[in-house]
Amino acid sequence: MLPGDGIGPEVTQCAAEVLRRVRPDVECTVAPVGAAALAAGLPALPPETKALCDRSDAILFGSVGLPQYDGLPLAQRPEYALFLLRRDYELYANLRPVRVFPGLEDASSLRPEIVRGLDLLVVRELTGGIYYGRPKELRTVDGVEEAVDTMIYRAPEIERIARIAFDLARARRKHVTSVDKQNILETSRLWRRVVTEMAAQYPDVRLEHLLVDNAAMQLVARPGDFDVIVTENMFGDILSDEAAILTGSLGTLPSASLGSGGSPGRQFGLYEPIGGTAPDLAGKDVANPTAAILSAAMLLRHSLADDSSAARIERAVDRAYGDGLRTADVARSAAAPVSTRAFTQGVLARL
Ligand code: NAD
Repeated sequence: MLPGDGIGPEVTQCAAEVLRRVRPDVECTVAPVGAAALAAGLPALPPETKALCDRSDAILFGSVGLPQYDGLPLAQRPEYALFLLRRDYELYANLRPVRVFPGLEDASSLRPEIVRGLDLLVVRELTGGIYYGRPKELRTVDGVEEAVDTMIYRAPEIERIARIAFDLARARRKHVTSVDKQNILETSRLWRRVVTEMAAQYPDVRLEHLLVDNAAMQLVARPGDFDVIVTENMFGDILSDEAAILTGSLGTLPSASLGSGGSPGRQFGLYEPIGGTAPDLAGKDVANPTAAILSAAMLLRHSLADDSSAARIERAVDRAYGDGLRTADVARSAAAPVSTRAFTQGVLARL
């Protein structure tokens, strides 16, 4: 468990309590990361912390980064820890479930009837595409400045992310929407072909293809029609933020980044809220712990293959919202918001 900075320690503490309650046998060890490590004179990802991760089945992560480090080069910033973890464990599949809790429909910027019952999952390829392709440089040619980024995908990279999407869809509503730009991009033509070929192995799953510009529109026009969305790195970066904000509340959204590494037979992963360190809220007992608690549920489901404990946590969170518990970020009515701790107690009581 790497709590990190800002609200990270508060919300991961809540998540750990819930995790311990449902699975007392899970050994959970805390280690410094991010600004918390830098302040102690250590690198953002201290070697001891990395060694602990190497011995673990999964990482429950808070968040890293504080404003005073924002201007520094990446290697001196708290966020460098996350960069190293993603790279070293080849966390290639980013999963972002987006759900609107009953009673929270009015937190969205869309009309409540459009987002009611919304339950989708964005599966984003995280280690390939235009963010990493070479050449990637700023150069001067014939006295003129130009810049180049390279979008490249190898078929096996597409296959492994598509497989994750199809497998996850099987456990959901059996519908995959693959997003690309095949009318323009060669990488997208390969993407569409590989995903279509893989679909033959999943006859029970319905596959649909959407161009990315259309997908961006459909996400706000009919978000309830989506189940699993699978897409490449840059499209996923944009669409996953668009999907996330459909709920209107950053504090409720967990994520998983799955990769290689970990012990044999286990799906290694890093689990974290999608939000940042929210320094404005840190230490005030007001942050929403939902994203961290649901990240722990994802950890149980994907890395410890314990679907029933994960579902138990998710049901308890649903009930807490259903019974009207609200932290300040999602409180809309005249009712007084509850604290981080009180919300967590509410979840524990409903397990
Ligand atoms: P942020 O997500 O920390 O905050 C954006 C807004 O959302 C703020 O108003 C904040 O109060 C609110 N918010 C976020 N989480 C919340 C929660 N659990 N409960 C209630 N409200 C919540 O983004 P930012 O302000 O752009 O960034 C702050 C710092 O976090 C920066 O240093 C940034 O680099 C870092 N960051 C880290 C990660 C990560 O560790 N994965 C991700 C994003 C940002």
